[in-house]
Amino acid sequence: MASGIHHVTSIAGSARRNLAFYTDTLGMRLVKKTVNFDDPATYHLYYGDPAGRPGTILTFFPWEGVPPGRAGIGEVHETVFSVPESSIGYWTQRFVEKGVAHETPVKRFGEITVAFKDSDGTRLALAGAKAIEPADAWGTGRVPPEHAIRGFHGVSLLLAEAAPTAAILSDVFGFVADGREGSTERYRAPDVATGGVVDLTTAGEFLAARQGAGSVHHIAFRAVDDAAQAAMAKKLVQDHRLYPTEQKDRNYFRSVYFREPGKVLFEIATDPPGFAIDEPIESLGQALKLPPFLEGRRAEIEAALPTLT
Ligand code: ZN
Repeated sequence: MASGIHHVTSIAGSARRNLAFYTDTLGMRLVKKTVNFDDPATYHLYYGDPAGRPGTILTFFPWEGVPPGRAGIGEVHETVFSVPESSIGYWTQRFVEKGVAHETPVKRFGEITVAFKDSDGTRLALAGAKAIEPADAWGTGRVPPEHAIRGFHGVSLLLAEAAPTAAILSDVFGFVADGREGSTERYRAPDVATGGVVDLTTAGEFLAARQGAGSVHHIAFRAVDDAAQAAMAKKLVQDHRLYPTEQKDRNYFRSVYFREPGKVLFEIATDPPGFAIDEPIESLGQALKLPPFLEGRRAEIEAALPTLT
């Protein structure tokens, strides 16, 4: 079984503006409101589908006043969501109405795709899929369910060369080559409906990316359980001389991290336990949730966080 994308984590400026863009403008659900476990004065906001399934989760570290990032090689260049092909017109109209920076829809690998940016300049796109699962009912009323974002289509990485990264994707995560368009090679996780595409764009000796607002911090791939994660980690060490971190408990999944040869930070995150571990699925994202080791500092942490409304 190949592994798809579990989540993508990016850097934002204002937490309030970030929340408004992803919930009001894009109609995604805030599925978890917590803090950065390594920096608890900062929010960690998770957006996803109504059930918060792996493959639909875009997360942010909002750092108020962080300077903008600079696009370049060695990073996730664009994060792409899936919508029905028939919804692309709805979305371009919505982008015009809401003043969202976007480009004219174009065909990429045969799919109609519209690139746009969030309020921090994060590079995003919607890819129109011909066959797509119906959306779960999610009663925000902001985006009609038939047009709702269905999770990740995939990501594109900007690299000096594609082959070393491609070797990790195919050998460790089970992706297979699925065509080329210009300087972009597509890799796909067979049988993965949501978040199964990674495009590798070769830029040669271009400037290296510099992280800041609008940059992707890392991308996480799925492991069905701890044993699958351990097997992937072992493969990285034995066959690729890449040394992942010790497993870190992220409360909603367990993670190891490594920098792949193209310099992009990769994570391997377990599907279990998921976002319903510390609050009911119906009320995901409403209360500030803290991991047990930070619960004793709740008053201090809440006082330091910016207001979201
Ligand atoms: Zn992560």
